[in-house]
Amino acid sequence: MEISCPNAGCYATVAYSDKASHQKSCIYAQCFCPLCSFQGCMTSLSQHVADNHRKSAVKLFSYEFCYDIVVTDQKFDILISSDNRLFLLLINRDVAEGTALSVIGICPAAEDFQFTYELSVYNFPTNLELRTSGSMTCEWKGVHPKTYLFVPDDAFPYKKHVFVN
Ligand SMILES: [Zn+2]
Ligand SMILES: [Zn+2]
Repeated sequence: MEISCPNAGCYATVAYSDKASHQKSCIYAQCFCPLCSFQGCMTSLSQHVADNHRKSAVKLFSYEFCYDIVVTDQKFDILISSDNRLFLLLINRDVAEGTALSVIGICPAAEDFQFTYELSVYNFPTNLELRTSGSMTCEWKGVHPKTYLFVPDDAFPYKKHVFVN
């Protein structure tokens, strides 16, 4: 038995048994803005963020390049990739004597899909680096990944520059 994908804009028909996995990975799956109640497919969400949350977003993020980001006072900074996916640089200050940094993707993806990323924070003579994998989700619900870059307050008393690759 075949059914059509219920996501608006998608004309795919899939076997009933594949319905759940297609719906998650479908590029028309609904994703949720981390800053307001907007929801839409990947492309409209990244356009929404670029138009409405300019201050919180770093645009034209492309893969395989290294980006210098000044960590803000917010809970996260938004990175918009060249293919319209959103990534969040999560800034968790609810850890003792430091800050925990990690990255997640806000876009449709099969449950087991992961990407790899690198973070580095440099303040002579200290250099902290993390290379790990991150996961995708359609909606960030405030849960921080268990793997993160721990940046001690003592090592970095000033604004942090983070390199995201
Ligand atoms: Zn679909
Ligand atoms: Zn929004």
